[in-house]
Amino acid sequence: MASNGALDARDRAAILSRLATERFDVLVIGGGITGAGAALDAASRGLRVALVEARDLASGTSSRSSKLIHGGLRYLEQFDFKLVYEALRERDLLVSKLAPHLVKPVSFMYPLYKKVVERPYVGAGLVLYDAMEGPRRPVPHHRHLTARGALKRAPALSPDRLAGAMLYYDAQVDDARHTLTVARTAAAHSAVVATRVSAVGLLRDADGIRVTGARVRDEESGREVTVTAEAVVVCAGVWTDLVHELAGVQAGYRVRMSKGVHIVVPRAAVDSNTGMILRTEKSVLFFIPWGEHWIVGTTDTDWSGDRAEPAATEEDIEYILAAANRALAHPLTRADVVAVYAGLRPLVDPREGNGSKPTTKLSREHVVDVPVPGLTSIAGGKFTTYRLMARDVVDAAVADFGREVPGSVTEQVPLLGADGLAAVQPAAGRLAEDYGVTRATVDHLLGRYGTLAEEVLNLIRADAALARPLAEPHPYLRAEVAYAVTHENALHVEDVLMRRTRLFIESADAGAGAAAEVSAIMGRLLGWSRRRRAAETRRYLDLIEAEQTMIAMDPGPAPDSAHDRALAAVR
Ligand SMILES: Cc1cc2nc3c(=O)[nH]c(=O)nc-3n(C[C@H](O)[C@H](O)[C@H](O)COP(=O)(O)OP(=O)(O)OC[C@H]3O[C@@H](n4cnc5c(N)ncnc54)[C@H](O)[C@@H]3O)c2cc1C
Repeated sequence: MASNGALDARDRAAILSRLATERFDVLVIGGGITGAGAALDAASRGLRVALVEARDLASGTSSRSSKLIHGGLRYLEQFDFKLVYEALRERDLLVSKLAPHLVKPVSFMYPLYKKVVERPYVGAGLVLYDAMEGPRRPVPHHRHLTARGALKRAPALSPDRLAGAMLYYDAQVDDARHTLTVARTAAAHSAVVATRVSAVGLLRDADGIRVTGARVRDEESGREVTVTAEAVVVCAGVWTDLVHELAGVQAGYRVRMSKGVHIVVPRAAVDSNTGMILRTEKSVLFFIPWGEHWIVGTTDTDWSGDRAEPAATEEDIEYILAAANRALAHPLTRADVVAVYAGLRPLVDPREGNGSKPTTKLSREHVVDVPVPGLTSIAGGKFTTYRLMARDVVDAAVADFGREVPGSVTEQVPLLGADGLAAVQPAAGRLAEDYGVTRATVDHLLGRYGTLAEEVLNLIRADAALARPLAEPHPYLRAEVAYAVTHENALHVEDVLMRRTRLFIESADAGAGAAAEVSAIMGRLLGWSRRRRAAETRRYLDLIEAEQTMIAMDPGPAPDSAHDRALAAVR
């Protein structure tokens, strides 16, 4: 029976003990969207599942994407019709049934500059794009706009050379929250989910052939235990080659890393009531509406540095600003940039051929491989298609179980918070009255937790101080920090500021000013001493300082004073 899947950080010792003592059908390595999806797919087939994630859920690529759930218009140009078709169907399933609280339609305007050539070309692409949609059609069809119509929706566009525009619809998501919700839904179906637990070795049977589990290390204590499983599934994104090395196997593909950078600018800096997609020399540039901000990106360059901390460079930021400014009437400047983040695409590079292809040309389709019995790995794909990736990798993993394993049912399994949403949304006003909070607070919570919002509201009922905002003017509440610990497995301040909330990319001080308060709330629940609380705050401040140093920004903007104040308070 499904439960509420609470991932309570206070249960860590019990979770580690379950890893060491139970025998699992499937052990998933990696807690990005692919691993969380695989855990849910396997658990909802009735299998005993464990998932180990070396750092935090979604701490790899799955919190650093463009946050679009989309077919990918540009893949049509690469004749990747299968990918676009599957992705659009997944988009529609997520918006209409599986995660309507998290995955929401968003419009994009595609400005046209060469009327005669471009309109028929882009128009035909969009006709095809819309035609590939599934039967649900939860997002509107595309429309043609005149130059005047385009400027009315996006006065920020420069009228120079503007010949008109196309308006089409896709969907967007908070990628880290979606990944967490998939992992929680897996836990609701009995999966054991452990974070800051790394796979450090693979176990083999007595003949040394079949993989039978993994040696894992608790990164908090350094303690190692063995986890036994009939099948191990590797969903390690850009770390996949390293896990293959751990197992001493050579898979049929390598993972090539392609870095993508985004900048975050205030909503007021670009006057538009729609997202935008601009054609660039190499690819496309998105303006994606994100609360009070725009996310603008991305880039696509080879990367061979640290997998955990891909760094944006001066050049990346300049490239994005220059590409954006080609279309804007009033240029964005460095002073507009609130935050910068970089992620690594795990692109599949088959061992033969392909070696020198630029990363923009590598397929975004996924590849599943079984390099030795008991070990199945998957890489490539897109966030949007995670459910299909999960289905395929679990199908391959259970193929030699020698017993009947049910097929994937995730098409029928709404994520936690989705069930009953239609009936809760109209009751938002009543909920606000019942819990003594504003309607805006209820809407904010419904948009992040769906029907689970009442679990957060109940924390406020028990302790009214938790109704206070965490970092004004941002909408996050102190209750969400507590909830992140008791239901979302947050173990450190960074988990809350970078992924449970998105203050790291939304706040000019990267959340520095809220770090001490987050540490205090977490510390009360997790029994941290005063010293530990200060250390946790400092750990976060050091982390964001390191990020800022890596970006190697111009001496330009002076160090943020809130950051300095926060640092001074704990040093
Ligand atoms: C810039 C950018 C923009 C993108 N935009 C979009 C988009 O808009 N839409 C879309 O559909 N897709 C997009 N993508 C692609 C999408 O984000 C990725 O395909 C997806 O997030 C990959 O998820 P993953 O789970 O495979 O990898 P990850 O999220 O990286 O997860 C792998 C996890 O494995 C863990 N791990 C590694 N080794 C071990 C070990 N030994 N033990 C335990 N755990 C381990 C890591 O810590 C990590 O958390 C984008 C990608 C990038 C980089």
